[in-house]
Amino acid sequence: MSRRDALRGRIDQTPFVDTHEHLVEESTRLLGAGAHRLQPCVDAALLFTHYAKDDLWVAGMGADARDRFFSPSVDPADKWSLLAPAYERVRTTGYIRAVDETLARLFAVDRLDKASFVRVSEQMVQRARPGFYRDVIAAAGVEVCQVNSLETFFCETADPEVLQQDLSLVPFTTGIDQPTIERFAERSGVRVKDLGDWHTVIDWAFATYGPRADAVKSQAAYQRRLDYAEVSADDAAPQFERLLGGKELSARRRKALEDHLMRYCLAAADRARLPVKLHCGYYAGSDRMPLERARQNAADLCPLLIDFPDVSFVLMHIGYPYQDEYIALAKHYRNVTIDLCWAWIINPVACVRFIKEFLAAAPRNKILTFGGDYGVVEPVVGHAAIARQGLAQALDEMVEDGWLAEAQAFDLVDPLIRGNARDLFPIFGRA
Ligand SMILES: [Zn+2]
Repeated sequence: MSRRDALRGRIDQTPFVDTHEHLVEESTRLLGAGAHRLQPCVDAALLFTHYAKDDLWVAGMGADARDRFFSPSVDPADKWSLLAPAYERVRTTGYIRAVDETLARLFAVDRLDKASFVRVSEQMVQRARPGFYRDVIAAAGVEVCQVNSLETFFCETADPEVLQQDLSLVPFTTGIDQPTIERFAERSGVRVKDLGDWHTVIDWAFATYGPRADAVKSQAAYQRRLDYAEVSADDAAPQFERLLGGKELSARRRKALEDHLMRYCLAAADRARLPVKLHCGYYAGSDRMPLERARQNAADLCPLLIDFPDVSFVLMHIGYPYQDEYIALAKHYRNVTIDLCWAWIINPVACVRFIKEFLAAAPRNKILTFGGDYGVVEPVVGHAAIARQGLAQALDEMVEDGWLAEAQAFDLVDPLIRGNARDLFPIFGRA
């Protein structure tokens, strides 16, 4: 057996701690087509919704073909011809490879065609029964997932043992408006009349959900720069009161309020010993990414890393395509860990390079190596397979090139795949 195969064998036997998913609750999935925006249909097209759809679109799938492909009312037998032209153009990408690996591993389909598309569609519907999430997650070789629910800010999951949950900071910090304030006032029972009351709402969220959360999470980078300045409560309060009065905030005023609230939440995360997961780099979707802003994420974060030295920051998606900067942050700052979640399917070859360059520069405990980042459970299987292939290649090449001893490469498997996550997230130490 080659060294690569032996490493792959060890990697295959080691279950992932999957540090980032958006899985809808199994009960939502079982409600069928349309129960969530990530679940427009329940046939084999569902495997493409998150994220393969974006590669298909960018490769030239038309709007009409796309809409019909994801429609719940088009027969699966009629969907193959809608998919095939664009599918052939994107066969080499990580997004599509994750689907293809899923088809191979869960459905024994080597190459998708009209007949297999129909067969997989039937099997997906048949298999969607109570308890099937656990079967799929086990098939992915994942022992536990950390879920950033897109259904609610903290999901009271039916299966907290396997689906740990992030507490989202977004509704408390980013894009706040009057309806959000009213919703959380009602939920928390706090009468919100000023910024101090909103602090009380945030305290309520941390007290109520923090003890069960694996981390707090913000994807504010989709809406703004991550340059959170120090803004006092006195300076933020008038902005909050404007919002309460139903007024619009200028960009400058909104930034000041959000800067203040984010730092308030980071202090709360510090007290609660909750790691802080931040979206960095590349954008999901298509035709909207302001690369100039994404490019600044790593540098923008430095003041926070310095001002909150006891907060564990988890910088997600390796900040792709600016991953060199994230290696530098993990090397320099004690409180920074970099997460390869999602990144393996954005660009698997870049991730192989990243693993090697990271290990040659930064401590091995500052990296997390897998998160599927999916709302639909099945493609986690394919994504995990890609991560395992890439990890085996990276470690093997480092031995080949003389940067690692063979025994070191094998010793890295457990920490990279599960040990680092278990050490980082206090939820693993809670009773
Ligand atoms: Zn995500």
